Amino acid sequence: MTTIYNFSAGPAVLPKEVLQQAADEMLNWHDSGMSVMEMSHRGPEFMSIIAAAQKDLRELLNVPENYKILFLQGGGLGENAIVPMNLLGRKPQPAVVDFIHTGSWTGKSIKEAQKYAQVNIAASGESSGFTRVPSRDSWKLTQDAAYVHLCTNETIDGIEYQFTPDVTVETNGAPIVADMSSHILSRVIDVSKYGVIFAGAQKNIGPAGLTIVIVRDDLLGHALPICPSAFNWSIVAENDSMYNTPPTYAIYIAGLVFQWLKQQGGIAAMEQKNIGKSALLYAYLDASDFYENRVAKDCRSRMNVPFFLKDETLNTAFLAAAKERGLLQIKGHKSVGGMRASIYNAMPIEGVKALIAFMQEFASAHA
Ligand SMILES: *Cc1c(COP(=O)(O)O)cnc(C)c1O
Repeated sequence: MTTIYNFSAGPAVLPKEVLQQAADEMLNWHDSGMSVMEMSHRGPEFMSIIAAAQKDLRELLNVPENYKILFLQGGGLGENAIVPMNLLGRKPQPAVVDFIHTGSWTGKSIKEAQKYAQVNIAASGESSGFTRVPSRDSWKLTQDAAYVHLCTNETIDGIEYQFTPDVTVETNGAPIVADMSSHILSRVIDVSKYGVIFAGAQKNIGPAGLTIVIVRDDLLGHALPICPSAFNWSIVAENDSMYNTPPTYAIYIAGLVFQWLKQQGGIAAMEQKNIGKSALLYAYLDASDFYENRVAKDCRSRMNVPFFLKDETLNTAFLAAAKERGLLQIKGHKSVGGMRASIYNAMPIEGVKALIAFMQEFASAHA
């Protein structure tokens, strides 16, 4: 049987060991006689599952004591509204939000924030075709913004921050809100440099339906009156993410992924693997005259690698041949075109090697 490698941008590949364990426990979790899907979220079984998931995530990301970890729903796009509704109350209305516009996802965040806030685009990569993060010294931030919004990995454009802005020097003291949906847990981060981190689970954590928010304590309690209670971070925090029914099965799978990450050696070890995998693929693309990646070298994403065939008339044949070889979901996002290989934590280096071997063969056959 052909080995399958799934390069989907999201929902995306999960570790085989995790899926196998979930299958083994599907009908009867730990002799409880129930599937996790059938359990009361307030019963002792599920309470132990969510507590372990929280604790493991805190340990993996080294989340300081003065930050809450919340398990929500609504996805990354939901947070585009939930974030302003929770943070704008820190300032007189209409409050200002600074954005660093780096591509498709910040574009959506900006549009949504405009419903609630006065948006200042402090820097934009649009003139570069979103092939780089605008250099830090070009950011034109306002004096008293409620927060500064960044997307630290632009999943569609394939660009990633290789630095963390300094709040005192670079954001005029405004807290940083980071959309880390597509690279959370892929690299070591210093959580204390951020006010809020959010991520939809379906890229690098677990199944769709779970959204993780990590928020510093002093940013709680400033929600606008219109904020729905189920999305009010203070209320969710006070209720240990149980104000309403949380996405229980997704939390269970995420918890298994956290245990798997610990077995892999934690985030520092994952980061080394991710550096190795992405370097291999970029080195091949840069050496090739058949394919290309257009992102500035110091801004390339380790998770999402968009690339183009120089002869785009071969795209359909390329995708069909890749699928035949068990290399799935490499088609680029429709807004960018071309191809995209997403190589999240659960993609083994063997998958990247198989992709490169296939690309080499395809290039020789069509040279
Ligand atoms: C996928 C993604 C989102 C959107 O997530 P949904 O769960 O579909 O709302 C937001 N931001 C980034 C960076 C993403 O990759």
